Parts: sequence; structure tokens; C-alpha cells
Amino acid sequence: MKSTLSENSSWEAMMFDINEIPIEGYEKVIEIRKKEAGLHAIVAIHSTKLGPALGGIRIYPYKNRDDALNDVLRLAKGMTYKSALVELGLGGGKSVIIADPKKEKTKELLLAFGEALNMLKGSYIAAEDVGSTTEDMMIIKEKTPYVCALPTEKSSGDPSPYTAWGVYRGIQAVAEFLWDTPHLYNKTVFIQGVGHVGSKLADMLFWHKANLIFSDVDEKRVKHLAQKYGAKVVDPNDCFDVECDIFSPCALGGIINEETIPRLKCKAVAGSANNQLKLPTDGDRIYERGILYAPDFIISAGGIINASYEFHPEGYNPVLSRNKIDHIYDTLTEVFARSKNEKRSTSDIADEFAEHKIANLIGKRKEPIIFRK
Ligand code: NAD
Repeated sequence: MKSTLSENSSWEAMMFDINEIPIEGYEKVIEIRKKEAGLHAIVAIHSTKLGPALGGIRIYPYKNRDDALNDVLRLAKGMTYKSALVELGLGGGKSVIIADPKKEKTKELLLAFGEALNMLKGSYIAAEDVGSTTEDMMIIKEKTPYVCALPTEKSSGDPSPYTAWGVYRGIQAVAEFLWDTPHLYNKTVFIQGVGHVGSKLADMLFWHKANLIFSDVDEKRVKHLAQKYGAKVVDPNDCFDVECDIFSPCALGGIINEETIPRLKCKAVAGSANNQLKLPTDGDRIYERGILYAPDFIISAGGIINASYEFHPEGYNPVLSRNKIDHIYDTLTEVFARSKNEKRSTSDIADEFAEHKIANLIGKRKEPIIFRK
């Protein structure tokens, strides 16, 4: 549906080619193009029931527009569940820019995206994700205040150390559930994707004496990190056949599916990647294979929890943020126990927790967010 979007009746909107895509269950999905800047983006706002939608900007060379649309829809819904579960007073949204971040991420493209973001008037707040960095967010901020997780004094900065800490605490909950100890001494953890989150998680696991295996499509990076931490390296094509205690997906989504589940040789899956399950039914499939799955929107919530503290009435406080992230351990412990008692998949239990909070408006934001220019 071609649209001038009522909110976009400004001169800014006239510079863009905007297409509103009606999708059931989503509040707003818009495709935005600005040819001169090489911008082709899709923004999906899944829900603002509990507060403005917050979610990252993924810059990725999708094969086609449908792949990009599917990804942004799944990611935006995941963000609604992620924020609802930890009661951040935020809704769920996400954006994707169809471009190769290594070759096509120009300043013009980021500024154009900032202008587009500004037209949404804060119903969607953007942060970094795969393909975008804190430096990119500073460029986008030149055109809009609706960004967070910036490398500035009042902001919360790079979310990835906080995400990694949440994943580490989640892995400890897995260890406690499976082996009656949160210690990871001599446990083998395989990290798929040693980027922002995966590399920081590797550091935490190294100092806690876990054995490490890495895989990454970036050969130079994986080689360097493997040397640093004494890790083994496996080819990205062999990721699903790696023998380990815990498989930690920290790259892209959709990797737990009908084809990969029978191949897995681990006792648990616990990593930061968003949307690890290709289909909701893959949660039951992995449960039936007897592999403990730490639902992604719980274990990867550290970054958004940290960003949400930027909107705290007394300003950002890293200690409060860290302490809240610590609860990922307790939440997962509860999910694992219920899954065992009720003989249901962990993904089912986690969805139910989040849906209950959304339906009952638990944790709904009371005060509007004040955006600083
Ligand atoms: P990143 O881009 O820094 O790292 C991803 C890494 O995965 C890169 O090194 C990349 O080369 C590698 N990779 C890509 N495809 C691969 C493959 N097929 N096999 C092996 N490695 C592959 O991204 P990130 O910020 O570390 O995020 C990782 C995941 O965690 C993403 O799914 C992201 O959405 C999710 N996540 C990140 C945060 C955060 O704070 N950054 C928060 C929540 C969730």
C-alpha cells in the first residue's frame, strides 16, 4: 500500500519512497527507499502496548526483499517478548537495511535512515544490531533523537558486554540445572560467531576455565581469538556436528531447525542470537531430543536491559543494569524447572510468561520517555 503516512506529511516524508505493508498482528510495517542515498530499509513495529518499541538496526545483504521482510517481522516480535518478560516498559520493533555493511554502509545511507526514523516520532527507538555500530548510531543521531546505546556520557554505550554477561549467567543456569553446579570448569562450550557478543562471552568463559571451540565466517578474526583463548576452531559448515556440552549460537537466527536438531551433539543450546528457532515447533523438536534450550529472548536480554536504564528517571546506572541482568539466571532456572515438571518445551513456557505480561499490561510504562537531542 503506497502511503504518505499521516504522520509523515512533513517535507521529510516527501524525500522518501514509503510503502506501508499491512501485516496482521503488527502495528506498523513500512518499507522505505531513498535511491540517492542507496537506502532500502524496512521498519517493523510489532507492539507498543507496554511502551515505545525498541530494537536494533540490522544492516545485512539479504538475498531479496522477502528475506528481509521475514527477518524484520520475526525480530520485531521477539523484541516485544524480550522487553515484556523483564518488564522494561518497552514494546517491540526492529529495522533492517538491505546493504552489505562492509561495502555499502555510507554516511549518506545512515543519515537518510536517521531522517526516516525521525518521521516515526519515537514510536520506534533504534539501537545497534548485526552490521551496525555505536559509531553508526552517532551518525544517525545527527538526524533524530530516537536512538539509544550511544557512546556518550549520558547514554548506555555498547550493549554487547551486557548481553554477553546475561548469556554467561544463562549458561550458569544451564550448568546448575544439568550438572548441579554453576561452575563451568572443564565444560566444553562451542561459540558460533565470535563477534561483539561471542568474543566477550568467550573471555568470561575462558577465565572461568571452560574449554572453548569457536567458529566464524571471518577467518582472520576467529584465528586471532582462538590463539588468544587457546580455543579449537571448526569450519562454519560443520557447526551442527560439533561435540560439546553447550552450543552457544552468537551469530544469526533460524539455526535450530528440522535439519540441524537431529545433528546436534550437545546437551544444551544457550546463546545470544535472536530467533534461533526457525519455526515455533522447533522448540518442541529440540525438547523431544532431550537438549535443554535456553529461550533466546530471555538469555539475550542483557543488552536491552542495559539500554532501558538510559531512560531511568535518575539517569543511566551500570550497577542497577548489571544487577537486573543477573536475574536472567533466576528466570531461566524457573523456566527449566517448569519445563521439567510440566513436561513441556522451554520455548512454550517462555512464550507463555511473556504473553501473560503483555495481555495483562504488566510492566507498562507509566511516564513517557524524555529524549535528549
Ligand atoms: P556481530 O555481527 O558482532 O557478530 C556476529 C558474528 O557472527 C560475526 O563475527 C560474523 O562474522 C559471525 N557469523 C556470521 N555468520 C556466521 C556463520 N554462518 N557461522 C559462524 N559465524 C558467523 O553481532 P553481535 O552483536 O555479536 O550479535 C550476535 C547475535 O546476538 C545476533 O543474532 C544479534 O541479533 C544477537 N544479539 C546481540 C546483542 C548485542 O548486544 N549486540 C543483543 C541481543 C542479541
